[in-house]
Amino acid sequence: MRSLMVKSIIAIQKIVNDDVKTAVFTSLEMINAKKLMTREGLTVVLKPNLLMGKPPERAVNTHPEIVRSVIHWVKQFNPSKIFVCDSSGGQKPGVTEAAMRQSGIDAICDEEGVECIPFEKTERVIYTVENPLEINEFSSSYLLKKADLIINLPKIKTHGQCKLTCCIKNMFGTVLLANKPKTHAQAATLDRFTSALVDIYSVSKPQLTIIDGYYGMEGQGPSSGIPVKMNLVLAGYDGVALDRMVCEIVGFDPSEVLYLTKAEKKGLGINNLSQIECIGENIEQVKRKFKPPKIRPVSMPLPKWLANYIGKTIFRARVKFNRDKCKLCSTCWTNCPVNAISAPEIIKKGNIPKWNKDKCITCFCCVELCPYEAVNFKINYVRNALFSWLSVGFVGIMIVITLIILLLIQL
Ligand code: SF4
Ligand code: SF4
Repeated sequence: MRSLMVKSIIAIQKIVNDDVKTAVFTSLEMINAKKLMTREGLTVVLKPNLLMGKPPERAVNTHPEIVRSVIHWVKQFNPSKIFVCDSSGGQKPGVTEAAMRQSGIDAICDEEGVECIPFEKTERVIYTVENPLEINEFSSSYLLKKADLIINLPKIKTHGQCKLTCCIKNMFGTVLLANKPKTHAQAATLDRFTSALVDIYSVSKPQLTIIDGYYGMEGQGPSSGIPVKMNLVLAGYDGVALDRMVCEIVGFDPSEVLYLTKAEKKGLGINNLSQIECIGENIEQVKRKFKPPKIRPVSMPLPKWLANYIGKTIFRARVKFNRDKCKLCSTCWTNCPVNAISAPEIIKKGNIPKWNKDKCITCFCCVELCPYEAVNFKINYVRNALFSWLSVGFVGIMIVITLIILLLIQL
């Protein structure tokens, strides 16, 4: 009997001999993506991951050849305008332009006659989130409204805070510069931040997603990890299903990628493998287990309040600065959303920024944005356990029980 279950279709295509264009075109053919190009003269926005100014070989930003191939694909349908846009991490003016330049994407847009523009340089609109989980509204570019078609071009990378950054997390780039740290500060726990990500995705939801799996990043992603040549392109319409499938490919437990369940509950896509159909490459043939980030969410079958408490105590991370690498460039203290980092008293080589553990919300922005990979996190479980109220309470209870037992023995 034929199943009536609606499935999300995902195309998986290998990149052979670095022929990115063929892989992109084939994957889009497999999902019949041309049905989205309903007429000539469409306005199309491509949203790559442009986290920071790093060259393609560092695998931080969407690879420029993926962007070029998608531009070529869109051009076949005579659009009126193609925009390539993002808003990078960091608040300093010019950071997105630097990412566009150093990623090589700016040069490709020049060659292709396409406009490469930071979202923050376009007209702003306040977007209201329907049925919000965490944020009611946010400001972004008018292009989200104006575009006939938004194409998400995320990259497969580990993420210190969220474990994985790909389809859903990439649309956080539609939040403009300084508003990103504000979102971190407002949604100060991982639980609340992932809810905010889902809210943002619900507004900026792309109609089509093409994942850059040419080079991924494992380990200390999204900016300081190890590039992995995966030679893959994934394409589909459902970003939740695509993220779920990426977890399968890189060997991550999807329950640790908190935004997946939330996005499915909000009706944004499918997070259930039995409802996802892959076409093209056999999933078993493309699996490549990723080294997870050192610090990552811990899934525990505990009540939420207890899991939150343990996360804030035993698993609490401390920010560490590397004296040899730090150039006192000010990126970390100007971008910390809660002012938990300040400049050293004297700006001179060998000094490092000051970190305030009581203010820190462990949002990982400093690790993510340091251009010199000079910030890291460490968790000292023993120290944390010794200083947590849970341990103090436990030790206290044990002392009381021992005293009662001793008293009873005396009697
Ligand atoms: S830790 Fe990194 S971001 Fe912070 S001042 Fe040093 S080099 Fe700059
Ligand atoms: S110190 Fe780093 S991790 Fe802590 S709140 Fe500031 S940016 Fe986030």
